[in-house]
Amino acid sequence: MLDAARDLILGSSCLGCGRAGRLLCDPCRDGLDVVPAPAWPTPIPAGLVSPWAATSYDGTVRDLVIGHKEHRLLALARPLGGLLAAAVAAAVDDLGPLSAPVLLVPVPSRPSTVRQRGHEPTTALTRCAAAVLRRRGLGALCVPLLRTRPGIADQSGLDAVARAANLGGALRCDPRALGRLARQGRAVHVVVCDDVLTTGATAAEAQRSLRAVGLAPLAVAVVAATRRRFPPEVPRSPGTG
Ligand SMILES: [Zn+2]
Repeated sequence: MLDAARDLILGSSCLGCGRAGRLLCDPCRDGLDVVPAPAWPTPIPAGLVSPWAATSYDGTVRDLVIGHKEHRLLALARPLGGLLAAAVAAAVDDLGPLSAPVLLVPVPSRPSTVRQRGHEPTTALTRCAAAVLRRRGLGALCVPLLRTRPGIADQSGLDAVARAANLGGALRCDPRALGRLARQGRAVHVVVCDDVLTTGATAAEAQRSLRAVGLAPLAVAVVAATRRRFPPEVPRSPGTG
């Protein structure tokens, strides 16, 4: 609704090509390089389950994620949810036939971030992903079980070691949400969902907190993973080009 109102007032244009109209036009959506694949960070956090990403975090996808998260372009939850669904589907395919529904557990933002931005972006796109998967016949449910402990610093700008330290014990399962799930009394398979995977520290912390309540995740699924920035190649000896 808000997004629709904003579009009416300000007009909108595609984040990919700038063409007036929707925030992601059909050609740009179809042109996204969606190849769901394992996206192991380097170094790999100890014990991390397989992380699957729909694509790499650059170009239009990066603009979509930032537009949704930072600029509250809420309509982007749908295309981003579609990408997340592709990552979840690939992760589930890889696991083989599952006997129970897939529980998609979004990684929460810090409460202060939610207050500032006025929405919970990862939960929004995880709900969209679950809806896409259900339409394709997969029993999938978005269940926001995780909460953030107060006092966690913003992760951006921290390196892998600092992120891991910042996140130690950062997440916990909400007892009420857990109680509601337990009362349903059915077996589930858990997949941790996030928008971007960088060092994997957040995913590992989500995995730890879910495992602590007996809901060990089978996989992690994200919209996009950052490409590893390797140091420049050692220059070859003179004369070899
Ligand atoms: Zn476009």
